[in-house]
Order: sequence, then C-alpha cells, then structure tokens
Amino acid sequence: MSIRMVGVIGSGTMGNGIAHVFAQSGFTVTLVDIKEDFLDKGMLAITKNLDRQLKKELITKSEKTATLSRINPTTGFHNLADCDFIVEAATENKSTKFKLFKDLDATVKPHVILSTNTSSISITEIAAQTSRPEKVIGMHFMNPVPVMKLVEIIRGHVCSDETVAATVELCNALGKTPVEANDYPGFVANRIIMPMINEAVFALMEGVATKEAIDEIMHLGLAHPMGPLTLADLIGLDVCLSILEVLHEGLGDPKYRPCPLLKRMVAAGNLGRKTGQGFYSY
Ligand code: NAD
Repeated sequence: MSIRMVGVIGSGTMGNGIAHVFAQSGFTVTLVDIKEDFLDKGMLAITKNLDRQLKKELITKSEKTATLSRINPTTGFHNLADCDFIVEAATENKSTKFKLFKDLDATVKPHVILSTNTSSISITEIAAQTSRPEKVIGMHFMNPVPVMKLVEIIRGHVCSDETVAATVELCNALGKTPVEANDYPGFVANRIIMPMINEAVFALMEGVATKEAIDEIMHLGLAHPMGPLTLADLIGLDVCLSILEVLHEGLGDPKYRPCPLLKRMVAAGNLGRKTGQGFYSY
C-alpha cells in the first residue's frame, strides 16, 4: 500500500482517536484543527489514552513515544498537501463539511481519497462538492476509536470499487474490521442507536424513571455495555442532536424528531463528557 502520510481534520473526540490509531500503526499523521487550543486538547487526550494502554501493558514506553512523534498537529490547512489519504472528522455540520471538501479537493493531490467520519451526512452530497466524487467515501469510526474494532464503510452513489478496496485495506492495516453500508441517512449504526438514545431522553423528560434507572435497566436488562444516557454523554449531545436532525429531515418520519430536553441541554452547552456536564457530571 502506498499510503504512508494521513491527514486527519478535527482534533476533537473522534479526530484525536483516529490520529492515535493511524500513528500507532506506523502512519505519519498531519492533525489539523482551527485553533492551537483544540490541538493541545487533542494531543493531551492522545497522551492520556496512550498512558492507559501503557498501564494495561498493551504498548511499551517506546511505542508510546514513537506514536506521539508521528503526529504533527497544525492549524495550517496547506500542510495537508502532501498527504496520501484524508480522514475528515470535523464538527458534524453540513456547511462546515461541504466547505472542507471543496478546500480539500483544491489542496490535496488528485489521486488522493477523501474520507469522512460523518455520522449521518450524505456521503453522496459531500462527494458532490468535489471534482473527484468517485474518490470520496464514508469511513465511520466508532467511539472510543482506539478501543472499538468496527469501521462502517459507506459508499457514496458514484464511489468507485477501487476507493472501497483501498479504504478496506487501510482499515485492515489499522487492525480494524470494516463493514460496508449504503448511503442512507444515519447509515446503519446511527439509524438504529440514535432513536434509542432519543427515546431514553423522552423517558427521562416524561419522568418515566430517573437517569440512573433508565441506564441501569438497559445495561443490566439488555446487556448493553452502558446505558443510553451514559452513551449519549460519551458521544456528545450536540453530535446526537445533529444526527437526529439529519435522520428527521432525510427520512421525513416524525419518529426521528429530537427530544426537546436534548435540544435544551445542547442550547445550555451541556454537551456531555467533553464539557464536563451532560446527563451526568464529569
Ligand atoms: P468534536 O466536537 O469533539 O470535534 C470536532 C473538532 O473539529 C473540533 O475540535 C473543531 O474545532 C474541529 N473543526 C471544526 N471545523 C473545522 C475546520 N474547518 N477545520 C478543522 N477542524 C475543524 O466532534 P467529534 O465528536 O469528534 O465528531 C467529529 C465527527 O465524527 C463528526 O462528523 C461526528 O458526527 C463524527 N462521529 C462522532 C462520534 C462520537 O461518538 N462523537 C462517533 C462517530 C462519528
């Protein structure tokens, strides 16, 4: 495989995890965000997650040092010009992603595949912002990226078989398991999980049970690794809201309407773990 240098856009929850796994697998990573502060936060998260792996004896100290040395954080978008593959993991917002893909198309070499980690925005629409729609693909990592094995691979309407094959090969090189899905709102994982999270927020809003009870019932009763409200805090409540809006708009079914309590919490800036306050305090 000729891919050695990977550009990751966004150093938030997902971007820093994606940079971590690429660097740990020997790729050089250019990690781009809009502010130094965000990059510092992302690098701190990567360091902490590597320390956790070190403590569990999953990696050695020198592997930790080598992984960190392969990541180049920068606010300079032009530094992506030499990358062989791009993973976009910026904020889940259509206009942000559309602009990013126009800029990427103008910045990176014409043969380079542009992938997006979007949870729900149409890959076909993102691809249409570029002059290489056959080289645009969904590469949907799961949170937390260093731990979760699955990568949902989403084929846009005109995505080529070569693009899919190269992305699958890259996932295998990361030790991940790629699974293909077609380009419909929410793809598979979020089409199924988000209505469940939304229903849990409705249950909380309506006083069906306390947040702890809702989570414990789903955790113990359905053997979910964590309850839906804890999961929403981990994903980010703003991310959950954006995905539900895409499902609601894209599928046109009122069953996907976001719960008013979720909207209110996002408006208040209580976004979950990343802000220290969501359904729970961190
Ligand atoms: P986040 O809010 O934690 O991080 C987003 C980062 O993108 C921020 O640091 C922000 O400054 C940066 N950003 C915004 N505009 C940018 C630009 N123009 N250039 C460079 N950086 C920019 O969000 P997240 O949870 O990491 O989500 C990122 C993407 O991954 C979204 O598309 C989301 O839907 C998807 N996703 C999220 C999860 C999850 O559990 N959080 C899971 C799978 C996929």
